[in-house]
Amino acid sequence: MLGSGQSAKMPTKIVIAVVLFFSCQLLLFWSNFEDLDEKKASLEAAVARLERRKDVLRKQIMDLERESFRINKTLLRSEILLKDRLPLLKNPRNLSPIFFVTPTHYRPAQKADLTRLAQTLKAVPNLVWIVVEDAEKLSEGIAAIVKSSGLQYGHLHALTPTNMKLNESDPNWKVPRGVAQRNQALSWIRTNFAGTVRGVVYFGDDDNTYDWRLFDEMRSIEKAGVWPVGIVGGQLVETPMVSTTNGSVVGFNARWKPNRPFPIDMAAFAVNVSLIHSYPNAQFSYEVPRGYQESTFLVGLDLQRNELEPKAANCTEVYVWHTRTEHPKLNSFDRRRFQLRENLTDVERRAVL
Ligand code: UDP
Ligand code: MN
Repeated sequence: MLGSGQSAKMPTKIVIAVVLFFSCQLLLFWSNFEDLDEKKASLEAAVARLERRKDVLRKQIMDLERESFRINKTLLRSEILLKDRLPLLKNPRNLSPIFFVTPTHYRPAQKADLTRLAQTLKAVPNLVWIVVEDAEKLSEGIAAIVKSSGLQYGHLHALTPTNMKLNESDPNWKVPRGVAQRNQALSWIRTNFAGTVRGVVYFGDDDNTYDWRLFDEMRSIEKAGVWPVGIVGGQLVETPMVSTTNGSVVGFNARWKPNRPFPIDMAAFAVNVSLIHSYPNAQFSYEVPRGYQESTFLVGLDLQRNELEPKAANCTEVYVWHTRTEHPKLNSFDRRRFQLRENLTDVERRAVL
């Protein structure tokens, strides 16, 4: 009986054990199942984080690609520019020369103006700077500036006739400026470059502002080139007007004396040096009305309006400005010593002589 009683209890224990075992398994499974949920959620969060990071990185890649494109483009442009310029710098003699004529007169800002101009011009290849002093004789200070430019140069002088040189405080101070000096330069070119047919002549006053690109433009002139001039004749810019159909000059926007044959400023044109030789009498004149210097000279070269070659991107770019240096107000003591060039201290001489 005992045996059978014991044997009857056995299955119950086994059942309990089995039930316990499965319950444990179930719990284990359940807890694993809960764990999986958590894992899934954290994995999903990680994926979302990575997606966001991917977006950020993709944007950075795009920015870098754009930047690299920009850099490559700049590099290419610089290479082209360098390739263009290198032979010119190595051998500027291949370029047609520019005869740059500068009349200049004695005044407190003369040294400052000429220093600035010398430093603009010294970077221009194959330029002959013809400086003509409105003076009885050459001055040492100007000789030093002209030499320091390192350019080929002519240093000349031509005194303006006294009846043409009225005092600046005189209300009649309306006589043309630089006439005798430009004519002196023309005859110097005709004598010293007699056989030269390649090159252009340009009249560049000492107080204007010149962009280097102006010089690139003028070298290709066949007869006479024209372009806009900034801040002149009461206008922001005076410019020839160019036909969009055939690219020729069809008019001018100048408001001051628009009926002049060529209503343009001295800084607005350059002519081929061969014309200077072909028309040996073409020059500037004291005998013509105010504002007619440019026209007198261009008519003297037998030029017609329709022969003008528009430069500076069909006269849409401005590479020269008719800036004017203010006349400084000096006290009478300094003014007198400057006029007489007497009793100036060393440092004063260095400022103005
Ligand atoms: N100039 C000259 N003698 C004079 C007055 C001017 O040689 O009595 C020169 C001046 O140095 C300049 C050019 O002629 O290079 C034109 O003169 P300015 O700049 O005074 O004329 P504006 O600016 O009125 O055209
Ligand atoms: Mn001027």
